Amino acid sequence: MKHRILFLSIAVVTLFLCFTFQAYPQGSNHKIAIVIHGGAGTILKSNMTPETENQYREKLTEAMSTGYNILKNGGTSMDAVEATIKIMEDSPLFNAGKGAVFTHEGTNELDASIMDGKTLKAGAVAGVKRIKNPINLARLVMEKTWHVLLTGEGAEKFAQEQGVELVPQEYFKTERRWKQIQDILEKEKADSAKQGIVPEKHGTVGCVALDKFGNIAAGTSTGGMTNKRFGRVGDSPIIGAGTYANNSTCGVSCTGDGEYFIRLGVAKDISDLMEYKSMSVKDAAQTVIDKLTKLGGTGGVIALDKDGNIAMPFNTSGMYRGYINKNGKPVVEIYKE
Ligand code: ASP
Repeated sequence: MKHRILFLSIAVVTLFLCFTFQAYPQGSNHKIAIVIHGGAGTILKSNMTPETENQYREKLTEAMSTGYNILKNGGTSMDAVEATIKIMEDSPLFNAGKGAVFTHEGTNELDASIMDGKTLKAGAVAGVKRIKNPINLARLVMEKTWHVLLTGEGAEKFAQEQGVELVPQEYFKTERRWKQIQDILEKEKADSAKQGIVPEKHGTVGCVALDKFGNIAAGTSTGGMTNKRFGRVGDSPIIGAGTYANNSTCGVSCTGDGEYFIRLGVAKDISDLMEYKSMSVKDAAQTVIDKLTKLGGTGGVIALDKDGNIAMPFNTSGMYRGYINKNGKPVVEIYKE
């Protein structure tokens, strides 16, 4: 009898322990953090009205607070990144989703990517013209296909199959971006030597989040570069260039001259410096921005490591950016401080 009671007690305790560890896996009380950007470029206080600056500050705060609340309520970094980027895509302030820049032909062609640092799974879309929220579609590519990157019409066909919201091209149009491309085309006409003018760009959006399970996710969304031609695709949908996430190192989202970011493999390079050289996230991100500067490229990155440390280096005059770390207080910065 005694043995039987002992055996039963051990069985009950074992079952209880099994249940507890399954419901609350190890690391489930990890620090949470989120970092975002809304593009880098010539962003000077002298060119900004207080109203415009406030609009940016408010939208950045709204976007990252939405993501942070998801994390605080026990949600995943993947959900936080997607929701945060969607808010910026829906805002005409940024060069992503509504408010995307125009191509040389007067169309809007959008790129986005997302990556899961736990599984190293990733999804991306490039050159899509009718997807309201490219970041949602990038996630579906990751979750519902065995591919990583879908482009143009094929990506839109997949979107239709998945019941994703499609919009007419006019949806993306904003007067500010339309005027921007018209001015460039005028200049090109006036001076044929200036063919292929590359304007100052900013407005790409990105987010990296760390959830209570210790999982990092990163995502980026953009309309690319104003006046781009011939189906040009930048770094934003390229895993390893514009976006990367790995739980054992960090998550990264980039903004700037896409061609340079592709050539340097910026996002993966930051992760690699941490992995192979044991650099801190701050040193790794700054080292890669220094390489970018040396090569002649401009832009910036946001990066977040597995312990919640944040880096946001850039080599332009400004970068829309913000973070909420373990203190839980949103911080927004725009100019070089
Ligand atoms: N990196 C983006 C691209 O090259 C543009 C940007 O971040 O401003 O498409």
